Amino acid sequence: MKQRIECSRRYCRWTGRESELSKVLDHKHASRSFKVYNRVCPKCGCDSYYDLPEPIITERVEHANALIKVISEHGRKFFDYKGTIATLELDKNGKVWVVDEYTKARVYTHYQGSWRGFNHGGTLRELVCAMRDYIVKGKQLSIEWIAPNRWNPENGDIWGYGIEAAAAVSAAAAQLPIIKSKEAA
Ligand SMILES: [Zn+2]
Repeated sequence: MKQRIECSRRYCRWTGRESELSKVLDHKHASRSFKVYNRVCPKCGCDSYYDLPEPIITERVEHANALIKVISEHGRKFFDYKGTIATLELDKNGKVWVVDEYTKARVYTHYQGSWRGFNHGGTLRELVCAMRDYIVKGKQLSIEWIAPNRWNPENGDIWGYGIEAAAAVSAAAAQLPIIKSKEAA
């Protein structure tokens, strides 16, 4: 696999593979006789980026990503942007990052301030934090995390998935190892 990289621009932080960089004509070097192409960030066009180590994927990281996948396959398809699914990963220091499906930014999930590059609101941020705690500490999630109802279920779920999709995503999530089983609750 090609080298993993991250755009150096603070407001961009696009994360991807070297092979995904866009090829543009470098006008500084272009002449009549030959053309030089630069490889640039596909999001912001910047030509400076860092090498990123390969993500560390443990069994619990896989369990968390399985939940993201289930959520992305139902209702409003949270965490899915045109077929790109958000992913969680660990670094060598045991810290958890989420690569956002829309901004392609790699977001540090232990940060208390605002998450630059995370395209969702507080509800899904809290869910990501719960998945982070599962990855780090093995603390399983209650099924109540998944498309939770408002006080009155007739008002629908907080995610706005709708009754059918909320029931389906909840049933699918309940089968996953990251979710606490009813007996263990
Ligand atoms: Zn960029």
